[in-house]
Amino acid sequence: MSAHISRSVLDALAALARSASGWEVCGLLTGEGDRVTGHLPSTNVADDPAMRFEIDPATLLAALKAERHGGPAIIGCYHSHPSGDPAPSRTDAHDAAPDGKLWLILAAHEAGLWRAVADGARFGRFEPVPWTITTPSGLHAGAGFSKRPGEPHIRSLDA
Ligand SMILES: [Zn+2]
Repeated sequence: MSAHISRSVLDALAALARSASGWEVCGLLTGEGDRVTGHLPSTNVADDPAMRFEIDPATLLAALKAERHGGPAIIGCYHSHPSGDPAPSRTDAHDAAPDGKLWLILAAHEAGLWRAVADGARFGRFEPVPWTITTPSGLHAGAGFSKRPGEPHIRSLDA
C-alpha cells in the first residue's frame, strides 16, 4: 500500500533542505496512517549536524504532548542529506527505533520514503515505502514522477 505526502508539505521541506547549505535539517511528520499532511521543523541538535541529525527533545516532547491533547498525530520524521542519497545511512539505521514510523529523506534533487522496522532490507532497519503526492483537490499528482524505474519510494523534487 502506498503512502501519501501532500504537495505543500513536500514543497516546504524541499525549500527547507535547500536553505541549509551543508547541514542536515530535520523535523517531524504529522498526519494520519500513512498520509503525511503536516510537518513540525526542529533544530538539528546533533554534535555534527553536517553528518547526522537529532531532533530537539523539546520539540519532540511538545509535539507528543500536543498529540495527546488532540493535536496532529506524529507519524514519522524527516531529515536531509545535503550531498547524498535519499536513502538512510548506516548512522540512521543505528539511531532508528523499529517503531514502524515513516522516515522521509530529502537529498538535493530527490526524496525517499522508508519505514523503520525490526527486520528491514536496508541495514536491517528500513523498508522502502512507495508513495504518491497529493494535492488539495485530492488528485494524485506526479504519477510516473519517479525517475528510477522499480524504485517507487524515490521521487524527484524537481517538479
Ligand atoms: Zn540520514
